[in-house]
Amino acid sequence: MHNHAAVGEPYMTKMNIVLFGPPGAGKGTQSKFLMEQYGLGHLSTGDLLRAEIQAETPLGLQAQELMSAGELVPDEVVVGMIRNRLTDNPAAKGFIFDGFPRTRAQAEALDAMLDKLGTGIRLMLALEVEEEELVKRLLGRGATSGRPDDRSEEVVRKRIREYEQKTAPLKDYYQAQGKLRPIHGMGSIAEITARLTAAIEG
Ligand code: AMP
Repeated sequence: MHNHAAVGEPYMTKMNIVLFGPPGAGKGTQSKFLMEQYGLGHLSTGDLLRAEIQAETPLGLQAQELMSAGELVPDEVVVGMIRNRLTDNPAAKGFIFDGFPRTRAQAEALDAMLDKLGTGIRLMLALEVEEEELVKRLLGRGATSGRPDDRSEEVVRKRIREYEQKTAPLKDYYQAQGKLRPIHGMGSIAEITARLTAAIEG
């Protein structure tokens, strides 16, 4: 009875979400809430890279220079890190991808990896925040976060340029699949959480 991928049967039993937006949009903050609310695992390539730097691995040493200049690390590096973790945490109801994908090659690799696992991306929630607010938030965070790339206005603005040039076009990629949900990212943390929840449940 279930031998053809029957129409109406859920293709995606996992709720995989790309939490998207420029640096400082609130992806990390909102991820914490979404993990708890929906029982999702969290995959942040920025966090994974910082752990590699902390552990002084060859990969970390390679990435550090690019990260401190506000540039993207190579696609193979982040795709490899994600690939190694997609089969972790099988009990999770899905993953929140935070800061990944950042290029079209990464988005295509992610689709291929998930497809092999019989799943896919359900939604891209794209937080939208004005540039001057991003700069203010990132430099404010830099005062306490210990992240060197949050301390210099030049590096912060470079990261925003990288986002606009290489990453923002991914909205078209997900839009073409009917998965893009733009989310107004200004306001209180709770207000933004409510908008994300409405988009997930809507
Ligand atoms: P984030 O913590 O997401 O702001 O990432 C911090 C830095 O890590 C970025 O500025 C990039 O240098 C690097 N990085 C994180 N994720 C990626 C990715 N998916 N592709 C390329 N570089 C990344």
